[in-house]
Amino acid sequence: MRVLQVCAEIFPLLKTGGLADVAGALPPALRARGHEVRVLLPGFGAILAGLESTVVVCDLYPPAGLSWGAGRARLLFGRLPAADVDAYVIDAPGFYARPGGPYADAQQQAYGDNHLRFGLLGWVAAELAQGMDPYWSPAVLHAHDWHAGLAPVYLRAAQQARHQHLAGSVFTVHNLAYQGCFAAHHFPDLGLPAQFWGVEGVEFHGQLSFMKGGLYHADRLTTVSPTYAREIQGAEQGCGLDGLLRTRAADLSGILNGVDGAVWSPAVDALLPACYDRDDLSGKAVCKAALQQSLGLAVDPARPIVCIVSRLTEQKGLHLVLQALPGLVAQGWQFAMLGSGDAWMEAAFRDAAAAQPASIAVRLGYDEPFAHRLIAGSDAILVPSRFEPCGLTQLYGLAYGTLPIVRRVGGLADTVADTQLDTLDTTATGFVFDAFTADALQAAAARALALHRRPADWALVRDRAMRQSFDWDAAAAQYEALYHAVA
Ligand code: ADP
Repeated sequence: MRVLQVCAEIFPLLKTGGLADVAGALPPALRARGHEVRVLLPGFGAILAGLESTVVVCDLYPPAGLSWGAGRARLLFGRLPAADVDAYVIDAPGFYARPGGPYADAQQQAYGDNHLRFGLLGWVAAELAQGMDPYWSPAVLHAHDWHAGLAPVYLRAAQQARHQHLAGSVFTVHNLAYQGCFAAHHFPDLGLPAQFWGVEGVEFHGQLSFMKGGLYHADRLTTVSPTYAREIQGAEQGCGLDGLLRTRAADLSGILNGVDGAVWSPAVDALLPACYDRDDLSGKAVCKAALQQSLGLAVDPARPIVCIVSRLTEQKGLHLVLQALPGLVAQGWQFAMLGSGDAWMEAAFRDAAAAQPASIAVRLGYDEPFAHRLIAGSDAILVPSRFEPCGLTQLYGLAYGTLPIVRRVGGLADTVADTQLDTLDTTATGFVFDAFTADALQAAAARALALHRRPADWALVRDRAMRQSFDWDAAAAQYEALYHAVA
């Protein structure tokens, strides 16, 4: 089947979070199942730089009513060898060639024309379903997160205008908290029919919401874990959209993300000082010693390291970690973190490390190779999120024998099994706590430490963790079933 994945980032060319990992891994997994998959991406510098064998599909002209602002714009087609996928790329320098990030400038200010920049992404997706490329058109549009939220909306508008089914649509929520909301007066800029405004459409509490547009108009909805799919139908995690999601419950499912074994496997990971696997963990000890050394932590094989790799935002529960940090160190842990995000959090972690450099190490910034070395060299990985659609770092932790300590929420609840006396010999793969408090976090860390002091039991749980399989083929098979249903 011909499937067009519509998204704003893709690993390894451009990544701000887990979305890029998914966008990079899903197309090859679908291809392995016999599907013809292409991606549609905005022409950010990193994407254009990675595009090879490029041809111009067509010049892009704004449709009547769509207020432009991009200047010259073309649709390109080529290959992204780094992501191993064929791609359409929207070359619109007026929109995408900017020095800051994909969504915000260097000062973290969202671009003022984001509704146009990502409106164009959705519009081109729907045009591809209507023959914009005479040689290829998709049977299914699979749009990811709010950036691509208007793809199902423009598709619906085109289908209504033509009284014809053009393609099926699937919309995947990677994080409901980021909704792509804009002032209502921008709606006419998008060139959508007037009836698409309103509660039964893209309006959300008087604003224009790309996320709501996708949730309302896509044929099927998915999110990235079964538990998160349930949670977002409730007020606490529904971000105001739980009512709509409840009415669409029959069309909503949760499909767990996988782990790309070519990128995240300790047996083949060329970024590590030494590789290892379940049968021979000597390489993990080498990774640990190298990590302690490179971070200036006391080099001591007996002292367990708990790590974090994360965006530093409130969602990730890192203020709890700051509160718990003295307690964790007192318990005997070394703590090592890689992250970037909120300035106050960066400063607080930097201060904590400066106060206890032999036990606490903090590296600020975004560093993919170091993320691999940190996870490989640590004994445990902490993910205490307030909410977590799927979460990837706990999956990497399982694969690398770095036991996850997680809060029982979203995809964390679906992927980590708590260690108890009655689960030790059966299902245990990590440590799970419920309350969103520093005390609960610390209690779970204490349980982890108690197990670490019993090497045979620790090895038992670690071995089971490393045997867990979150492969993309299983996820691709579930997406495939949805594609068949909507095509
Ligand atoms: P989210 O998408 O909410 O940020 P996920 O756990 O789904 O959270 O995905 C985060 C991804 O980003 C993982 O691949 C993780 O390794 C990576 N990551 C997060 N912060 C950093 C960082 N500072 N340096 C390198 N990789 C990071």
